[in-house]
Amino acid sequence: RTPDEQLAEIDRLVAENHQIHDLDCFNLNPATNVMNPRAEALLAARLGSRPSLGYPGEKYETGLEAIEQLEVIAAELVADVFGATHAEIRVPSGAIANLYAFLATCEPGDTIVAPPPSIGGHVTHHAGGSAGMYRLRTVPAPVDPTRYTVDVDALRETAHEVRPRLITLGASLNLTPHPVAAVREIADEVGARVLFDAAHLCGMIAGGAWENPLALGAHLMTFSTYKSLGGPAGGVVVTNEPDLAERLDAIAYPGLTANFDAGKTAALAVTMVDWQVHGQGYAASMVGTARRLAEELAALGAPVFETVEGHTRSHQFALRAHPWGGGQAASRLLRRANLLACGIGLPDEPVDGDVNGLRIGTPELVRIGLTEEDMPRLASLVVRGLAGEPVAEEVTAWRRSLTGVHHVRQPEAALV
Ligand code: PLP
Repeated sequence: RTPDEQLAEIDRLVAENHQIHDLDCFNLNPATNVMNPRAEALLAARLGSRPSLGYPGEKYETGLEAIEQLEVIAAELVADVFGATHAEIRVPSGAIANLYAFLATCEPGDTIVAPPPSIGGHVTHHAGGSAGMYRLRTVPAPVDPTRYTVDVDALRETAHEVRPRLITLGASLNLTPHPVAAVREIADEVGARVLFDAAHLCGMIAGGAWENPLALGAHLMTFSTYKSLGGPAGGVVVTNEPDLAERLDAIAYPGLTANFDAGKTAALAVTMVDWQVHGQGYAASMVGTARRLAEELAALGAPVFETVEGHTRSHQFALRAHPWGGGQAASRLLRRANLLACGIGLPDEPVDGDVNGLRIGTPELVRIGLTEEDMPRLASLVVRGLAGEPVAEEVTAWRRSLTGVHHVRQPEAALV
């Protein structure tokens, strides 16, 4: 192909993605979001190709006076929003943020205890992910299926038996509060540290809709910046522990980064200002909308996964996906209905060759303008889509009526 043909192909694919995400479909996947247009614009503001090697005030290259101030401001804003003394923002993703945490707390050959996939435990904490690649041995935490989190009593026994260096909490689906304070006590008994993986919960925490794990005793918290947080793709590690802060700083530089994207840094700073101003309203709307959608789906007979505290305390919930042959199979049915979602593990009957749950969340729904009042209509479309009914055109007509809206309707929570 000629260069012109290749350029045309790239343009076509970008337009196709815009069509899928911004015109045709509703995104019910909590692992994604839309950004504040002002933050998004900064990704193309001719910052990203500039060098940034070294520390603010001591950069190796010259001419970086403005860029180093952006770095400082972004890190201070993140630390402020998350009630931390140290925010490490030179992290490419949530997965690499977990690697930073492992490097800061463990040596190769150490044992860690982490939530298994049946309660949303992420691969980064296990053999196939960054934990395994750093040669950590992961022992799965015992499960409390009624709360979709770890079982504290059984975890105490496991910890005393395997003497981990690190115990992790936090998952790709979070339905009830995790027992952070109790796990911190266990960690203290065996000389371990506690890592809270807030890849998904960070927006809830930033908006005060979820108790801050650092305040409850977690030594470290990691997260993705583009899921419920609605920022640019990246990762962050926050802590209040001076020794860990120092270690993380060295892991970031000169350890794992040299130059990094100052455009992303500026976009993250704008995202944090949004959270300071509008975060409470946005987080509360995400929770309210998720709970209402789960209720409406259950009322229509959909098998919403139940905990002892109900469908969810967060912005996410799950359907038992057995009727559709699994979560990924269900997500393919929804795709035909122009509804985007994906599979998740549940502590329930397994499904052969698929995960047994379908995860649904509201970060993007709220951001494009849907409210609790819209949930009966959306629930009906989800149920009909899962039944194989041809609802794609109806979904798209509704989606297009919201095109261009990148903020929530309530003025007090307008993330623009
Ligand atoms: N941790 C959890 C619990 C996740 O769900 C994810 C999601 O992908 C990650 C870590 C990795 O984050 P990222 O996609 O930003 O690398």
